[in-house]
Amino acid sequence: MDNAQNTDKRPARLRQWITGELNFMADVNERNSLANMVLAHFFDVDSTRLAMNEPLEFGTGDLDSIRKVIRRLRNNEPIQYILGEADFYGRKFYVDSHVLIPRQETELLVDAIVKENAGGDPVILDIGTGSGCIAVSLKMELKKAPITGLDVSEKALDCAMKNAARHGAGVNWQMANILVDELSPAVFDIVVSNPPYVCDGEKSLMQRNVLDYEPHLALFVPDRDPLIYYRAIAQKGFSALREGGKIYLEINEAFGDEMVKLLENQGFEEVEVWQDLQQKDRIVKGIKRNIKPALLSDLH
Ligand code: GLN
Repeated sequence: MDNAQNTDKRPARLRQWITGELNFMADVNERNSLANMVLAHFFDVDSTRLAMNEPLEFGTGDLDSIRKVIRRLRNNEPIQYILGEADFYGRKFYVDSHVLIPRQETELLVDAIVKENAGGDPVILDIGTGSGCIAVSLKMELKKAPITGLDVSEKALDCAMKNAARHGAGVNWQMANILVDELSPAVFDIVVSNPPYVCDGEKSLMQRNVLDYEPHLALFVPDRDPLIYYRAIAQKGFSALREGGKIYLEINEAFGDEMVKLLENQGFEEVEVWQDLQQKDRIVKGIKRNIKPALLSDLH
C-alpha cells in the first residue's frame, strides 16, 4: 500500500486494496467477501459498520497483519485457517489444520437434530467430532442434553476442547477409533456423525484450498470401501443406542440408496434421506425401534 492509501482508513478503500491483491481469483464475490472477512477480523467490526464506510481505527501492525494474510491467501490457504476462525450455526469456532472447516451442509444436520429434539435432554454421541462444531452447537441449543464428542485425533480433540471452552459448553470428550474401539451398549438417545466420505477417486474434482490444506484423515475414504466408517458407525451406533434412539449421518451424495440399505440391514427403521440446499442426498436418519412383541414371541 502506498502512503496515500495508508492514510485513507475507509473500508471501501482498504477493500479495494485487498481485492486488488487477490485479483488472481476469478470470482469477484469471493474476493469481496474475503476482503470483508479480513477487515471485520482485524478491525473488530461487523458487516454493517463496513458498509457504512466510516474510517477504521488503525492499531500499529494492522496493515502488516493484513499483508501477511494476503500472502497466505495467495497460496490458496483457506481464510478460516489463516484467521483461526470459522462460522457455524451462528457461532464462531476456532479451527486449525487438524480439523475440517465446518460446512453449511453440516449446519443442516445440526438443525435437524435441534428441531426434532427441542426441549428434550437426549444423551448424544458425536462420532468423529473434529472441531467439535456439531457437539458444541448441540450443547448450546439443547442445554440439558449430556453430550460426548469422540475423535481418533488428539489434535482435533484439543481444538474441540478450545471451542467448548470458548462457548462455555460442557461436553465430554473421548479419544477413540470407531473402526477399532467398542462403544458402551444402550446408553445414547442420539448418535450423530459426519465421517470422512470423499472417495480418493474424487480428489481430482476438489479445489486446491481443500486438497492442500484440510486434513485428509477427516475427508477421504478408499474407492474400494467408501462406506467403511458408516458400517462401523451403524453397527456400533445401533448397539450404543437405547430403544427409540435415533441416528443422524451426513453422507456423500452418491450413496443415498446404499446408506438406506446399510441402515435398514443394521436394524434401523423409518430410514429417511434428506437433501441439502443443492438438492443432493446429504443426511440419513434412522430409528432403533423397540423390539416388537411379535418378534419376541417368535423366539419361543
Ligand atoms: N463435505 C465435505 C467436502 O465436500 C466433506 C466432509 C466429509 O468428508 N465428511 O469437502
